[in-house]
Amino acid sequence: MMISEKKIIGKFFLKTYGCQMNEYDSQKMAKMMDNIGLMSSDDFESADLIIINTCHIREKATEKLYSELGRIKKRKKPHTKIVVTGCVPQAEGEEVLRRNDVVDFIIGPQSIHLLPELVMKALSGEEFNKVNLDFPGMDKFDEIPESQYKNNIVANLTIQEGCDKFCKFCCVPYTRGAEYSRSVEKIYREALTLTTQNNAKAIYLLGQNVNAYHGKDESGKDYNLGRLIIDYIAKIPNLHRIFYTTSHPKDMHDELYEAHRTIENLMPFVHLPIQSGSNAILKDMNRGHTTEEYLKIIDKLRIVKSDMQFSTDIIIGYPGETDEDFEQTYQLMKHVSYAQSYLFKYSPRIGTPAANRTDQIPQNVVSERFQRLKALVDEQQRIFNQSMEGKTVNVLFERINDNKQLVGRSQYMHLVFVNMNENFNERMIGQTHQILISKAFGHSLLGEVVGEFVC
Ligand code: SF4
Repeated sequence: MMISEKKIIGKFFLKTYGCQMNEYDSQKMAKMMDNIGLMSSDDFESADLIIINTCHIREKATEKLYSELGRIKKRKKPHTKIVVTGCVPQAEGEEVLRRNDVVDFIIGPQSIHLLPELVMKALSGEEFNKVNLDFPGMDKFDEIPESQYKNNIVANLTIQEGCDKFCKFCCVPYTRGAEYSRSVEKIYREALTLTTQNNAKAIYLLGQNVNAYHGKDESGKDYNLGRLIIDYIAKIPNLHRIFYTTSHPKDMHDELYEAHRTIENLMPFVHLPIQSGSNAILKDMNRGHTTEEYLKIIDKLRIVKSDMQFSTDIIIGYPGETDEDFEQTYQLMKHVSYAQSYLFKYSPRIGTPAANRTDQIPQNVVSERFQRLKALVDEQQRIFNQSMEGKTVNVLFERINDNKQLVGRSQYMHLVFVNMNENFNERMIGQTHQILISKAFGHSLLGEVVGEFVC
C-alpha cells in the first residue's frame, strides 16, 4: 500500500491568550495548519506564519497583544505573515491593522474556519480579505477538524458559544455573538474521538454560558446541559472525569442537579461566578439574579453532592461600588468559603455600557479592596488545601515533571505531585489512583500511593 506523504510548506507559531475556549479554538487552528502542510514551531523567529489568538476580557490582555506584536516585528523573518485571531480583532476591528502595520490580516472567533484558505492566499501573495469578522450564522464547527492533538489526557470540548445576557461590563456578547449550542450528536461524536483516538480521560465541556446549553438531537428533541451529560457524556466508555465551565447562576436547572446527584464521574467542583455580593451592584451589572438566589444554588448543590466545592469570579471596583457594596462581597465570600477565587479589578471595555459610567472607582480604592479580598481568598484556599492533608483523593495523572514526579489533578483541580518508583511510574499517565495527601502547599499537594487503582 502506498502511503502518501504530506507536503510540508513551512512552519507556524501559535500563541494563545485567554480562556479555555480560546485554547480549544487554537487546537483547532493548529490542526487546520497541520492539514495544509504547516508544521508547528515553538520559535516565532523561524516561523513562516505567526498566529496570535487573543483575549479581550481585560485591558491588560489587549495591551499584551500590542507589546507582543512590537517584539515580533523586530525579530521575525521578512516574509513571515502575521494573523491576529480571537476577541481583540472582533471587538476592535480594523483598529488592530491600523495600530500595527506588521499584522497581515485579522479573523474573529466565529470565522476561524476561513484560516486555511486565507493563509494559503497570504503565503502565495494572492489578493485576499484582510478583515474577517462575520458571524456567519452557520456552524463553524462543521468546517473545522474534529480531532485535537493526540494524547491529551485532559481535553476541551466546546459545546456552546456566545451569550445573550449582556452584563454591562462584558464584551462577550459583542465578540462571540449570540448564544449558540452545538447539536447533541456532534458533541457526542467529538467526545468519542477524544477518548478513543486522543486518549482523553477527562473532558471539559466548555461554553461562555455552558449551562445555558440548549442543543437538539437528530430527532429534534431538546437537551439542556444536565440531560446532555446524563444521556450522552456519562455513557462514554473510559472517561474518568467530566467538568463543565463557565456556568451562570440564572441557567442552573433541575437536570444539572440530577446529574451531580447521580453521575459519579461528574466532578464535584463547579465554577459559578457571582461577580459581586451586593444586590444593588448585581442589578446594576444586569446579572439577572440576587445573592439570595445564588446562595440557594450553592446550598442545593451541596445537598445533592456533599463534597461539592466551588470557585468563583469577582469584579472589584465596578462603577458605583460603595464601601458597603464591597463589604457585602467580602461577607458573601467568607460565607461560601470558595476552594478557589479569581479576583479582577474592574477594567472598562470599549463598547460595553459600564465603560461610559462617570462614577468609576479611584484606582487606590480598588487596589485597597483588592488586597483585602485577596488576603481572604488566599486564606480560604490555604485552609482548603490543608484540609486535604491526611486524606485520600483520586488523582488522574497527566505527565511527569523535571523532578521525576508524576503530576496529576485531584477532583477539585489541585495539582498533585507523587514521587515515582519502579512500580509507580510513567505507565500511570492516563490512570486514576487513590493518593494519600502528605503535604499541602499554596497551589499544590504532595501525595503518596495507597495502592488502590481506580480506573
Ligand atoms: S453572562 Fe457572562 S459572558 Fe454573558 S455577558 Fe454576562 S459576564 Fe459576559
